[in-house]
Amino acid sequence: MDCLFCKIIAGEIPSKKVYEDDRCYGFYDIDPQAPVHFLMVPKAHISGPDAVNEENAAVIGHIYAVIASLARELGLENGYRVVANCGKDGGQTVGHLHFHVLAGRGLAWPPG
Ligand code: AMP
Ligand code: ZN
Repeated sequence: MDCLFCKIIAGEIPSKKVYEDDRCYGFYDIDPQAPVHFLMVPKAHISGPDAVNEENAAVIGHIYAVIASLARELGLENGYRVVANCGKDGGQTVGHLHFHVLAGRGLAWPPG
């Protein structure tokens, strides 16, 4: 399958790993939008938030638990934002479900 993040998970495209286990992979964003900006992705290919269903959703709870643990390890005690963009209007550019984790500065709300 011609999927950028599947290739990153497989190690075919290099990435700066922040976390890995049997179900998910985390790596730093190539174009960081905050002092800390990494992506957490399920290893199983899910094309985006709109492809989540009762059969594949469990990994998302796992990813949030991993993010909470990583945030403690990385010292993000001032907080962070988790974002999953969906579709054109949501700003999704890669068709493999991913959770942005942004931290290290105050983040505007609502987003632009
Ligand atoms: P989105 O726009 O929500 O689909 O997010 C895709 C993200 O993937 C963007 O923030 C990109 O900067 C990031 N990205 C694209 N290619 C790579 C790559 N090879 N390594 C790390 N991050 C990437
Ligand atoms: Zn994929």
